[in-house]
Order: sequence, then C-alpha cells, then structure tokens
Amino acid sequence: MGDRRPVSVDVRNHGQASPESVLRPEVLGWKAYHVPDSAGMLKLDAMENPFGMEASVRQILADVLSNAPINRYPDAGADVLRSLMKRTLEIPESAEILLGNGSDELIQILCQAVARPGAVVLGVEPSFVMYRISAAIAGAHYVGVPLSANFAIDESALFQAIEEHRPALIFIAYPNNPTGNLFDDDLIRRVVERAPGLVVVDEAYHAFAGKSWMPQVCAWPNLLVMRTLSKLGLAGLRLGYLVGRPEWIDQLDKVRLPYNINVLTQLAAKVSLENLGVLLGQASRIVQQRGELMTALSSIPGVHVFPSEANFVTFRVSGAVAVFEALRENRILIKCLHGAHPLLADCLRVTVGSADENLMFLDALRRITSLEVSRHGG
Ligand SMILES: *Cc1c(COP(=O)(O)O)cnc(C)c1O
Repeated sequence: MGDRRPVSVDVRNHGQASPESVLRPEVLGWKAYHVPDSAGMLKLDAMENPFGMEASVRQILADVLSNAPINRYPDAGADVLRSLMKRTLEIPESAEILLGNGSDELIQILCQAVARPGAVVLGVEPSFVMYRISAAIAGAHYVGVPLSANFAIDESALFQAIEEHRPALIFIAYPNNPTGNLFDDDLIRRVVERAPGLVVVDEAYHAFAGKSWMPQVCAWPNLLVMRTLSKLGLAGLRLGYLVGRPEWIDQLDKVRLPYNINVLTQLAAKVSLENLGVLLGQASRIVQQRGELMTALSSIPGVHVFPSEANFVTFRVSGAVAVFEALRENRILIKCLHGAHPLLADCLRVTVGSADENLMFLDALRRITSLEVSRHGG
C-alpha cells in the first residue's frame, strides 16, 4: 500500500501538495469573479429591484419562515414550488421545469451536461459572462461571436461560427446583458432551426421586456427558455428556472445536485409567487423609471444612450473610467464596462433604481461630466 499514489499528481516538490501541483492548469490561470464592495454605496451595479418586499408580504414571510423545518433536508424535487410556478409563470402545460440555485447554476448544469470531449458552447459577445466561465469550468470550448457595433447579432458571422464549430449549446440572452437590447426574433428562430444542438434563450430580464419565447418553448425540439426571480426582486433567494420539453429537462435533472434549492428559498419563493402581483407592479414602476432615466441621460451633453428593454441602461460617455471612478467617490456604484470588450469602449451600465436614486445618480453624473468637459477644454 505504501507506494500507491495518484499517478497524475506531480510529486517533485517532496510530496508536498500545492495548488500548482494538483489543480487543473486552466484553474490556476483564471481570475476570480470579482464582486466589488458596495458597503455604504448607492448600489446601481447589479440589476437589483430597488423597492424591497412590501410590508404585508414581509409579514407572511416572517410567519412562514419562522416555522420552516430547517432541521430537515428540503423537498428534493421542490414539487410544490414547481407546480405553483407552472400555474403562475405562464409556463406551457406540456413543458417541464428544472430549478437552479440562481440561473447561474442552470448555466453550469447545461455546460456540464453537454461537455463531451471537444464540445463547443457558443454565445455572442459581449453578453453574460457566466456562459464563458461555466463552459470553461465544465471543460467545454467557448466560442464568442462578436455583435455588430449597434449590438445586433451579426447574422453571417453567427451562422458561419455555427457551421464551423457545430456547438452543442448556444446561449442567447434576451434582452442581452450588458447591452440591454432584444435580438431579432426572426433571426433567433433561424438559429434554433439551424443549430445542431441546444439553444437556450436566457430571459433574465423578462419582467421588463414585454416579449418572450416562453409560450413557444415546446414548439422546437432543441429550444429551452431560462428565467430567474433575481431581477424581478428576489436576487437574495437564488432561484432560476429552465423550461422545455420533458425529454431534455429529465436528462438535465440528473446533473442537478439533489438539494440545490434550500428549504428557506422554497418557502419564500412560494409566498412571493402567491403575491406575484406585488413584484409585477414593482417591475412596471421600474419600466416607467427606465423611460425617465433614459430621457434624462440622453439630455446630458456627451452621453449616448443605447436602447434598453431591461432594468438597466447602458450608455457611452468619453472618459468612462474616470466618470465611473468619480461616481464611486460620490458613493454611487454602477458598472464600468470599458475594457470588457472592444464594442464596450467607454461604456457604463446603470441599474434603474427608484425615482430618488435615479435623480441622485443623474445629479452626480451631470456634475462629473461637466467637470470632465471643462477639464478637457470642451
Ligand atoms: C443576472 C443574469 C443571470 C443570473 O441570474 P441569477 O438567477 O441571479 O443567477 C443570468 N443571465 C443573465 C443574462 C443575467 O443578466
């Protein structure tokens, strides 16, 4: 027994394990996903609902959660919650639901499930970064197809990449993050029809978009629709859902860890969905605030606003990094997109907040950009 050791481990450093000698080399090369410290800041960086849960629902939550059986494992299939979701979230009768600890986990499950040797996961760029990260963790090859300058899908580049790489999985965020736009429906339909593998339409911002692929999710054999309760107002619960034909969902469910949706989340989501009108009402206030924020932003000299169907607004302003830093010094946290992709040069992304929050942001931005303009001589 004494000389048996795992053959794949590098033992040149005298039997002392180190990350370098044990971990996958690609893991060693990655940078950690960075979440900036937001303590004491006006937080407009992460597409959270600014309103918080209404007091009447909070009271119900307090009662229900105080009786939660947290000494027990959760319902492994979350059956009660899933059937409630089916009744409240416009999910077609013939479709099945897979729940994730946030849709982030569903992205991970999808990538792990398709990661045969040499498998390709494809997305457009810039888009949601977790597609690339989860593909890499799963050991799949990620191909990013650049959008055109107006953030629309570059159709010929996309179809060429599909033919060349034969992706097992294509992610399309609808609306797209961080650009905010919806992609052309007819083009998405052709992608679904020509794709050799799965196409996942990621509707994280569905509540603010007014358009959806959900009603037609079962019309194609290779289409799945993914949503999350996070942007709707429950980011802290971590609950995402993937919807499609049972033949896909039943297989993907084998990759899900048995108790991935905890007791508190199952109960709190149930109460929230029983009071869904509250969240939908908040979403429509956010959509109204988005319109006002976009109009006000457009009127600031030097600011170019991109169209948005989500609960954030992406805009371009010269000296974006300096503007971002100056906002942060004013304790306002947004997202700096400059440097993330060439198409995002000088771009910033702000989450739509409450009316007061948006005014604070706009006031600060007006002050900062007028200083920038005068510093650079107009
Ligand atoms: C925020 C976001 C998600 C992740 O949502 P969670 O459910 O909180 O993990 C997924 N897709 C897109 C496009 C997003 O912007």
